[in-house]
Amino acid sequence: MADTNQVTVFYDERVLAHKPDSDAPFLPGRMDRRVRELLSALKVPWVYPEHAGRLTAIRQLLELEPVPGLLFESGKAATREQLGRVHTSSYLDHVFELRGHNAWLDVDTTAVSPGSVEAAEVAAGTTIAAVEAVIEGRTQSAFALVRPPGHHAEPVRARGFCLFNNVAVAAAHARAKLGCERVLIVDWDAHHANGTQDIFWADPDVMLFDIHRSSPFYPGTGNLEDVGVGLGEGTTINVPMPAGSGDRAYLKAFEDILIPATDSFKPDLILVSVGFDPHPFDLALNVSYEGFASMTRMLQDLAKKHCDSRLVFVLEGGYHLLSLSRGVRTVLSVLAGAEAPEPGLTGLAEVEAAAAFHRPAFSAQEQG
Ligand SMILES: [Zn+2]
Repeated sequence: MADTNQVTVFYDERVLAHKPDSDAPFLPGRMDRRVRELLSALKVPWVYPEHAGRLTAIRQLLELEPVPGLLFESGKAATREQLGRVHTSSYLDHVFELRGHNAWLDVDTTAVSPGSVEAAEVAAGTTIAAVEAVIEGRTQSAFALVRPPGHHAEPVRARGFCLFNNVAVAAAHARAKLGCERVLIVDWDAHHANGTQDIFWADPDVMLFDIHRSSPFYPGTGNLEDVGVGLGEGTTINVPMPAGSGDRAYLKAFEDILIPATDSFKPDLILVSVGFDPHPFDLALNVSYEGFASMTRMLQDLAKKHCDSRLVFVLEGGYHLLSLSRGVRTVLSVLAGAEAPEPGLTGLAEVEAAAAFHRPAFSAQEQG
């Protein structure tokens, strides 16, 4: 059995080779023309926001401010068989043909560069490696530090910076090869996981709990009434949130919806599609570092209660480099055993002390 609170980061630098460049000419020509039209209509020059600097920023912060006890392991590439559990054969053929090219897969801002296909295979495979380590008991929890992200990728389509659906590939692998029966996926990225929802829409053995900013915010899916179909009815749980929602609302959603849902589903593995774009620096929502810490602690408690602490975080979005790197470090420290202070308490003790300090002046005035 792993040491208490042992946490391992899975990272493979091949994921840095995904470098979409919107100035390069793209395949196919008609997609290039459509994308050029969209880009030229923008008022400011467009830079691909999902870039390798995101992971470099996280790695630098972890070097500057190490999390005590954190272990690192490298990743691996997913096989075609592993990817084929959630993507169609024709989609995989199409993506594999783009190896070594610059191409635009979708007007929905998903491009590839010569190194992208391998980076995407490694992102999915590294997520599998993290799940294997947790199931084998080599570490209690794990964090797959990967890109391109995955939760918008559908069975037949790349979308929203995502090529392969990393968390879905790992959940399917856990069920097919690692003896897991029921997998819970929690997604707190600001954007709805349209891809993950599609893949497990009719599957009663994979539960998706997704809290996100509501439509028409990208990708526009994830309404309250979308609960899955057939045998999978009830194992898709969407919690759409208005702009600016913050810690108290998020923690209430976890307490009132996620905890009872997990207690009834009884997963034997919990995967977390973790995005840091609910932080105010990414301008959509208002979840603080303390909020991320509290949600992490609640997930850790759920994993302890239901599945021998087996908990794996997989990086999705988060584009402001400061809140992204600080957010990842916050999650890792809580996983490793640090305190998760209740949001909104910072400074309260100081205010109480200041009030006690100033009070005699007001009392003196009253008396005078
Ligand atoms: Zn996002």
